Amino acid sequence: MREGIRLSDYEHVLGADGEALRELFPAGVARLWGSTPPVREKSEKVTALEERRVGDEVLFYAGKKFVAKARILGLFRNRPLAKAVWGVDDDQKTWEHIMALGDVAEIEVPAEPVLRGLRIPVPLRSLTLVPAEGRRSFLDMVDPSEPSQTGRNDSRPERGPTLGRDDLFRSLSSLKTHIKGQRPSRHKPITLLWAIGRLAAEQDRIVGWETFRNEVGPLLKDFGLPESRVTPEYPFWHLRSSGLWSVEGIEQPPSTPTPSQLTVARARAGLTKDAAKILRRSLARAEAVGLLCSKYLGDVDRDELLERVGLAGYTRASGELPDGGRGGGRVPRRSVTSSQPDRDPRLVERIKVMYEHECQVCGSRVETRYSHYSEAAHIRGVGKPHHGPDELSNLLCLCPNHHVEFDRLAIYIDEDWTVRRNSTGAVDYQLKRHVDHVIEQEHLRYHRGLCGRL
Ligand SMILES: [Zn+2]
Repeated sequence: MREGIRLSDYEHVLGADGEALRELFPAGVARLWGSTPPVREKSEKVTALEERRVGDEVLFYAGKKFVAKARILGLFRNRPLAKAVWGVDDDQKTWEHIMALGDVAEIEVPAEPVLRGLRIPVPLRSLTLVPAEGRRSFLDMVDPSEPSQTGRNDSRPERGPTLGRDDLFRSLSSLKTHIKGQRPSRHKPITLLWAIGRLAAEQDRIVGWETFRNEVGPLLKDFGLPESRVTPEYPFWHLRSSGLWSVEGIEQPPSTPTPSQLTVARARAGLTKDAAKILRRSLARAEAVGLLCSKYLGDVDRDELLERVGLAGYTRASGELPDGGRGGGRVPRRSVTSSQPDRDPRLVERIKVMYEHECQVCGSRVETRYSHYSEAAHIRGVGKPHHGPDELSNLLCLCPNHHVEFDRLAIYIDEDWTVRRNSTGAVDYQLKRHVDHVIEQEHLRYHRGLCGRL
């Protein structure tokens, strides 16, 4: 449940639930919890199964404490999926009553006072349900420091007060965009990339309308759909519906406020505190940039756009090009005259020798007159903006073609070491791994994030 399953690995057993699950977990990783069918009619378990509803909070109980909480996003009964994920028990039963869970968080709260407060009867099962209506008081009990919702002009009141990582990615992948002609408008994704660029540069999260117009307006003009008008007031105001964006200083007008109304009101806007907090982390940022680009900005010149918003380097695994790189990675520089991060040449040599110049993707060896040729590729680039480590666990031995495809995000490596084509998700190869080569999954995950595959 904590780790989640990759839906693509279970495609063959999802059946009719596939579409709903993919919608609930657009990032492709689903958190599921299953229960076996009840033995007797009218047992406590039957009641519990019948009573749960989407939106309810689930508490996981162990040793007189609640150890995790989650929200029910969907309910399914799917025996083939349960069997594939969890197997069967001694009686050949499987956990086929499945809950799809969101906002999973580890907690550590003594159970009894909470249950008394919610008037939920003890004894406990491993799972306890808190009806959606009781969610607010429950959250107050388990985490009194959570910010209160008062004063927030949230257009999605059903959402809990704290934005989780899952919420953020759900929002990013389901932006409501105006359809212009045949194509969805790019105003919102471009604005979000601009906002993420500000975070990356450690600039203020919230900006005044004038600054917003001066910065975002030209981006919309250059990268928006040709048939779109340049209306920065539109994303400034309407991004609120994403739940990731807040606008300050102006009350809800009957329609989109005009630029002059925003000026008079000295309106300010930007990512919410919660969203900014998540997007300040490098992995989430890489994943968000990858997702926005691949989902909404397929035919935009991404190198150009990302460079303009201060996110240059996110279109390549290796990061910014040496001639454009200005600085500051974790890997020390050789000298002030060299803009290349100082990569340890012994590691490069070691990985090539280990694989005898065979490409870990296709297995081919490029021949030279007296020897062979291969390239050492960092999975997470060592320079700006990725700041990956210069270590063997972050290196691959690749042929030139696959080096380019890996660097330019045409291929990625999945958790099960399959090499997949990013345009289709299809498996191309199985990654070859030397027994002495420990590859860090976290780096591959970062690379998949850049690929828009999370
Ligand atoms: Zn190759």
